[in-house]
Amino acid sequence: MAFRGEELIFLLVALGCLAALVIAFATWLAAKATKPAARKPPRKTFEHGRRLGRAAKPASTEDALRALRSTPVGDITSVAPVDGRVDIVVSRKRTQPCTQAAGYLAGLFETAWAHEVHVAHPQCGGEGAGACHYVVTRAPIVSGARAAEASTPGSGGAPRRSPRARAGRG
Ligand SMILES: [Zn+2]
Repeated sequence: MAFRGEELIFLLVALGCLAALVIAFATWLAAKATKPAARKPPRKTFEHGRRLGRAAKPASTEDALRALRSTPVGDITSVAPVDGRVDIVVSRKRTQPCTQAAGYLAGLFETAWAHEVHVAHPQCGGEGAGACHYVVTRAPIVSGARAAEASTPGSGGAPRRSPRARAGRG
């Protein structure tokens, strides 16, 4: 069986095209396979800290205070819950940024109180390791008669008196 000149050239070109396709497909597969390995660890932002705080799932102020005994954002060296606010000092390592700690406290107490919170930061330990002072308060309610009787965090019945969902009878 002998090929004529044109047939041979056609065959070679066809084989070349097929080889190119196979190489392209293999390269695509290889790129796809290496992508998940390149995933970066989460950046230690406010939002990341907030997710960590929410993940502790505190149902009350007491739960939140218990969660503060061991946090991923730093060592809590002082906690002072007083009427409507919690004063907290966080002793951070270099790897525990200030904004992450603030986010953690926001996530923790907004979950515990089922209410928006405000995190003030009157004293900062700086960019590296250091002690940061935060003050967590309930964010003011814009309107509604229930605002006046909103519970005080840290007081005995706070969890029971927290605002309920609209459909609730509370
Ligand atoms: Zn700070």
